[in-house]
Amino acid sequence: MSANTRRMIEHLGRIARETPWWPGETPFEIAVSAVLVQRTTWTQGKKATDNLKAANLLDSRLLAMANTNDIEQTIACSGFYRQKAQTLHRLAKWWLVDGVADFGSTQEATADKSEIRYALLSIKGIGPETADSILLYCFRQSVVIADAYLQRIDARLHRRSRPCAKPRLQREYQRLLGEDSNVCVAFHAGIVDVAQQYCKSKGPLCSSCILADCCLSATVPKQ
Ligand code: SF4
Repeated sequence: MSANTRRMIEHLGRIARETPWWPGETPFEIAVSAVLVQRTTWTQGKKATDNLKAANLLDSRLLAMANTNDIEQTIACSGFYRQKAQTLHRLAKWWLVDGVADFGSTQEATADKSEIRYALLSIKGIGPETADSILLYCFRQSVVIADAYLQRIDARLHRRSRPCAKPRLQREYQRLLGEDSNVCVAFHAGIVDVAQQYCKSKGPLCSSCILADCCLSATVPKQ
């Protein structure tokens, strides 16, 4: 592990919030919102989730029974709504039939995390990042979410000419963070905070960034 990576993890641990970063009143709502934020902004994903809630469809049984045309109309603001409606339908059915029943309660999943991940990835429309978000925030499994934010921060931190592939990033950070899901939640929350507040895709705000003292791309002098 590089010294820079170690310091980055320490800094992110220090800003960890008490409340989990991923919003949602129930595990199923969190899983649904993980689908709805795919390929859109958080604002639009949240709006679509709120629309589902207003339509009384944030319930796995009701969503599984709902007409996909109705789901499409409700989540239209999130984009790619036809595919997402189909994915939500499949997710709701899985949640009802196999999900929580097979894997234990979402607070205390009894199955191996690779088994749950495999099951989630077998649902058409759910890719690695969505599956990992559901694993971490719904099933409280220790997993590093290798998203575009982590790719960007890691690349800048180490001044890489191109970002690491997500599977490699996930392996490496998982090895560093260990198997405590709370640590993984705090790490992900810190990455999201830094990416949204300071390490923006265009024009990073290095002078305010908490990672400036360990980042090889920082545009401010090291202290
Ligand atoms: S110091 Fe600058 S480049 Fe490095 S992580 Fe922070 S905002 Fe990004």
